[in-house]
Amino acid sequence: MSANLPIVGAIEAGGTKFVCAVGRGSKSDLLETDEFPTGSDPQAVIGKVVDWLKSREARFGTLPAIGIASFGPVDLDPKSPTYGYITTTPKEGWKNTDIVGAVRRAFPGRAIGFDTDVNGAALGELRWGYARGLEDFIYVTVGTGIGGGGFARGRPLHGLVHPEMGHIPLPPVGDDPFPGNCRIHGRCWEGFCAGPAIERRAGMPGKMIPADHPVWELTTRSMAQALLTLTYVLSPRRIIIGGSVRKAGRLGEDAFFAMIRRHFHELNNGYISSPALSPEGLERYIVPPELGDAAGICGAVALGQDALRAGG
Ligand code: ZN
Repeated sequence: MSANLPIVGAIEAGGTKFVCAVGRGSKSDLLETDEFPTGSDPQAVIGKVVDWLKSREARFGTLPAIGIASFGPVDLDPKSPTYGYITTTPKEGWKNTDIVGAVRRAFPGRAIGFDTDVNGAALGELRWGYARGLEDFIYVTVGTGIGGGGFARGRPLHGLVHPEMGHIPLPPVGDDPFPGNCRIHGRCWEGFCAGPAIERRAGMPGKMIPADHPVWELTTRSMAQALLTLTYVLSPRRIIIGGSVRKAGRLGEDAFFAMIRRHFHELNNGYISSPALSPEGLERYIVPPELGDAAGICGAVALGQDALRAGG
């Protein structure tokens, strides 16, 4: 599939770890990958990634392009003086980090592609995963935080900055007193459904939460509220959910998705009557990534290839 695509460098900058790769496409076309903890010293980890990529050039030849998919918030406006920066992140040590500039200085003259980590993962799924052939879809990652990216008419959603779907306000489920876990908003999607919120509610690590614990019912109900909101606002043709929370510990990924789809169907209450939102249709409408946990790094490869095609 990817044999005629160029080999490029790829960096998936996450809040916990940096994944780097050289490759030309989907999971099976990643030639080498490695990862480094993100830590609190940007220059240190970026330096390690740069060294790793440079040493790969000895084997695979000069990398004509490098794609970077980064945690954020990031500045995506090419006209902005801080284009390519990680901007206001609360992550210790990372505020105002010029990640694109650092890579550009290390690899002068190469094409550099840059986007958010979730838009990167969305691009990976568009090119090689469950979003193939779809111009309008959403990719959400639910892990230590929640981020949402997406494509409309085949283009990533940027706009004023970039979407922050993970922080849309959500009502509590019934009379649930949980105040929400978001540092900024309390009760928002991330405040209800990210890993730390689930663990705080349950009072135990996520992997230990029993399958019949009520936190799963609450979490999947809130997930469905958020996904229905996105469906009503953006009318995506599919919603892909990545990140660690989807694996749902002892509940398991299949049951987690089945519960979300059931709540989604109940909440929609027949309002949108598309076959895609029928109980059978929802099995293909709300899905995990086809590329699994490699969606992000494959997306970074695609960002690099797209930058090369666009001339830099
Ligand atoms: Zn929030």
